[in-house]
Amino acid sequence: MTRPTPLDPPARLLMGPGPISAYPRVLRAMSAPLVGQYDPFMTGAMGEVQELYREVWATRNEQTFVIDGTSRAGIAAALVSLIRPGDRGLVPVFGRFGHLLAEIAERALAEVHTIEVEWGQVVPVSMIEEAIVRVRPTLLALVQGDTSTTMNQPLDEIGALGEKHGVLFYCDATASLGGNDFEADRWGLDAATAGLQKCLGGPSGSSPITLSDRAVEVIRSRARVEAGIREAGDESAADFIRSNYFDLGMIIDYWGPRRLNHHTEATSMLYAARECAAVLLSEGRANVIARHRLAGDAMLAGVRGLGLTVFGDVAHKMNNVVAVEIPDGVPGDAARQAMLEDFGIEIGTSFGPLHGRVWRIGTMGYNARKDAVLTTLAALEQVLRRHIPVPAGGGVDAALDVYRVSA
Ligand SMILES: *Cc1c(COP(=O)(O)O)cnc(C)c1O
Repeated sequence: MTRPTPLDPPARLLMGPGPISAYPRVLRAMSAPLVGQYDPFMTGAMGEVQELYREVWATRNEQTFVIDGTSRAGIAAALVSLIRPGDRGLVPVFGRFGHLLAEIAERALAEVHTIEVEWGQVVPVSMIEEAIVRVRPTLLALVQGDTSTTMNQPLDEIGALGEKHGVLFYCDATASLGGNDFEADRWGLDAATAGLQKCLGGPSGSSPITLSDRAVEVIRSRARVEAGIREAGDESAADFIRSNYFDLGMIIDYWGPRRLNHHTEATSMLYAARECAAVLLSEGRANVIARHRLAGDAMLAGVRGLGLTVFGDVAHKMNNVVAVEIPDGVPGDAARQAMLEDFGIEIGTSFGPLHGRVWRIGTMGYNARKDAVLTTLAALEQVLRRHIPVPAGGGVDAALDVYRVSA
């Protein structure tokens, strides 16, 4: 066997719907030396992560930390811990990730009710309230930004509905957090989770989570019931949280002052999560969101400037991703391949009803940048013109105009 050579990934500009190219600062943090699990530096870093993410989420929630695992780990931890077997859950679906929430809630043995709108739309608040009144759920699980359709579900009125009807409100903000407004406390969230590999500008593998006192009380009361069941020796009747790894009660005790041993916190991922939040907060939360909005507006204008049509209700588009209809006469997969092989630029394909119909182009985190936007548009023009006529320079010019107006 030949000796393995050092790892040497190709240079890529990741302009898809995630994962994206990480901030250099985040990559540097990940190569920092490891320390022990209870080293004062490590426990200090964990405390710092909690504090930083309270600001990222705009919350005062004591229980704000990260779950080790990709975004889906955060989703699973939240749903498995908050849903008791037999609870009714309501999941409004407006894209692929709504189906994922429904599936994970079902695995947590919820009786899941879904309401759906067509891809490319968001769910009207009145439709959600009507379903809450009809279904009487204990939990409402809703995606904020669904990258499969690029839509950004308005959340500002949903928390009040939850409060009014006594429903816990959980949100998957993986695709949107850091690049779009998110106000955990002001919007009345009980639980929210995310990942690093979208607007937060890190690698996948750590899932920020925040829990309201009401959510923590649900988790704590389950732990008390569980202790009672164990004492009575009737474990068959169990209301237990059906996962050790994702038992938020245990994870809270691990992050809390007692530091009860649970898993070994993933040190390098903790460093990454720390640095993602530090980059965001040193630039300023509002400034980072504005930078995403600007890059997204420029990319939107740019693809239109190339004569392309954008999918979905653009008024509700996330700042950080756009779905572009693949024009007649252009082979979608071959064009994506040319972007990657000739220019080192990755753009995204699509799922479900949009498969083969749109490309998804992201501008997130480190890559929510003028040069990244312009380079992508210039490359896309070259790739398109092999197949169809395109306005020369139309993409770059339109994007530059957006930057000029904002300057
Ligand atoms: C990208 C994305 C995820 C990804 O989950 P992973 O486990 O990190 O792959 C989850 N939810 C939403 C809404 C996403 O956009």
